[in-house]
Amino acid sequence: MTDNKRKKYNFTTSNDDFPLLYIHIPFCDSKCNYCAFNSYTNINHLKKEYFEAIKKQFLNDVKKENFKTVFIGGGTPSTMSVEFYEKLFGLLAPHIKNCREITIECNPNTSYEWLREIKNLGVNRISFGVQSFNDEKLKFLNRNHSPSQAINAIQNAKKAGFENINLDLIYSTALDTKELLSQDLKIAFSLPITHISAYSLTIEENTKWEGDFSKRKYDEELEIWFIEKIKEKFPQYEISNFGKPCEHNLGYWRGDEYIGIGAGAVGFREWRMGNGEWGMENRECTMYNGKWDMKNEKRKIFRYYTQNDVYEYLKNPTKYNYEYLSLEDIKKEKVFLGLRSILGFEENILNEEEKKRVEILIEEKKLFKKQNKIHAYDFLLADALSAYILD
Ligand code: SF4
Repeated sequence: MTDNKRKKYNFTTSNDDFPLLYIHIPFCDSKCNYCAFNSYTNINHLKKEYFEAIKKQFLNDVKKENFKTVFIGGGTPSTMSVEFYEKLFGLLAPHIKNCREITIECNPNTSYEWLREIKNLGVNRISFGVQSFNDEKLKFLNRNHSPSQAINAIQNAKKAGFENINLDLIYSTALDTKELLSQDLKIAFSLPITHISAYSLTIEENTKWEGDFSKRKYDEELEIWFIEKIKEKFPQYEISNFGKPCEHNLGYWRGDEYIGIGAGAVGFREWRMGNGEWGMENRECTMYNGKWDMKNEKRKIFRYYTQNDVYEYLKNPTKYNYEYLSLEDIKKEKVFLGLRSILGFEENILNEEEKKRVEILIEEKKLFKKQNKIHAYDFLLADALSAYILD
């Protein structure tokens, strides 16, 4: 769509809460066989230009916002130098004065010096893409670190002053057995971590393993056993997350607004016409002609997407595609995401028919009510339960 087919409007927001900030780093040292993320191993020469592009987008998108949390994800953010982050935190500084949590994702081959410098810049949560402590499994996944590197990196993060340390584990690969997964957890539990994210392997399109389902193990009993084992040490607060909750992710699942910076990043905002309360005054927003009739609507909820392709993003970091969401869409997300986590959802968002179905599920002991919120006993059933409630 060409620019002359778009309308321009000024918007303000009436949301009085603080948004979240996500920054995407698309660079990686090697491409994992299962990876469908927007990450690349052959564009390292673009790192300098990438900073200039995210700076341009940040200055365009961020006005007076104070961020509640920041998450620097990827890709592999630890492939970027400390100097990159010094410049980045120079940009962020006026917006993170009251920030509760700043997370960065790292590869386990990260040095102690890098961890210490990043901690000094203000990062207070670190997340390591460990996946396993089994050498054969790491090679199978095409991870480029060894088990001992992962152990050292976590111990170094603690030594550098991090109190909030996550490690990611992957399960349901063809190599997984009770013995292998037990050993992974035994090592994980012996380390100074506060959180585990455990992801079941999915075979996705546009990955090296696309279409090859032999790489995955389909063993529900093993999956449940693994989840229960993690829960013995770290309480489950979301379908894949255990331990001290990540405030940033809780914000996503609660439906907080967020700004997404970087190639392929996503933002989520609710804007209303009126006098701006915090930071969105006179914001000019380009909307596709015909989809958004501001004469009749005072409120708009939408996701916006930057260019996924890094070259396209570098050319135009402030070009967005929009996805508009209705209140019905938001309701579905609240039910679905609420049932996958400790958040639950407020009963009053449902219509009468939906409330009746909730009562049936409460009688069947699949759901329970606590302070006007509906929760699932088993997060793994969230898909089926929300489909039934919303019919
Ligand atoms: S390190 Fe993460 S983002 Fe990079 S290729 Fe592996 S899974 Fe994908």
